[in-house]
Amino acid sequence: MRGLSVAEHVLQSFGVTNPEEIDIEAIAWALGAKVRYDALESCEARIIGFKDRAIITVKDDGDPRRRRFSIAHELGHWQHHRGRSSICRASEIGTPGQAGASIERQADNYAADLLMPAYLFRPLSAQFPKPTFEAIDALATTFSTSRLATALRFIDLSPWPCVIVCHGPNGRRWFRRNRAVPDHWFPKNDLDPESAAMDILFGGIERAVPTIIGADAWFDRWNADRFELREECVKAFGNDVLALLTLTDARMLE
Ligand SMILES: [Zn+2]
Repeated sequence: MRGLSVAEHVLQSFGVTNPEEIDIEAIAWALGAKVRYDALESCEARIIGFKDRAIITVKDDGDPRRRRFSIAHELGHWQHHRGRSSICRASEIGTPGQAGASIERQADNYAADLLMPAYLFRPLSAQFPKPTFEAIDALATTFSTSRLATALRFIDLSPWPCVIVCHGPNGRRWFRRNRAVPDHWFPKNDLDPESAAMDILFGGIERAVPTIIGADAWFDRWNADRFELREECVKAFGNDVLALLTLTDARMLE
């Protein structure tokens, strides 16, 4: 069991014992940062700090759950990168697979820890018998977080070996797998015609029924055609599709 993260320490010092108590503006205020909403043009959120006070400005339109994550991301900069101002574009907040910009990843990790602390997220996600988008969406409602942010957190903390892969019309955009998945299972660049992800990407449907599919639809390792896995696909942001893959065959973990 790992120790508490910086963000989880903050929550525990405020006595947070359930997700509804994670009032992001109140937490920001207690940490010295005032939150404002404004019509930002060139970025999603920013923080300007001076000594022990800061002002976080967040774009005033869009999804409120996404705004919460943006505020928590800026607080991550405040906690980890104090002394510098940060101006963050939408593509820098909560988007996996961005090369470089390690301070953005650090701010994202802080935001995930603050909004979905492991000490609350783990027991609540354990109520669901297996990884599904139904479970992820229910947790997203409980924690007031976006489907994408919740899915990434779910993957990171799940005891199940699972991978989440994001595809756009031009191929794979990014993927994330948890520690239970061996490194040699590396997702393919292109979608397999057998995957339901095709029907979402090009057929206009919102989500597909979870199915069992050959592992070679997702991985091109030499022995992939010997195994099957569980696939569930949903439409995501823009024209993307998210696939949740669960490695149900224990031989894939050897
Ligand atoms: Zn940032």
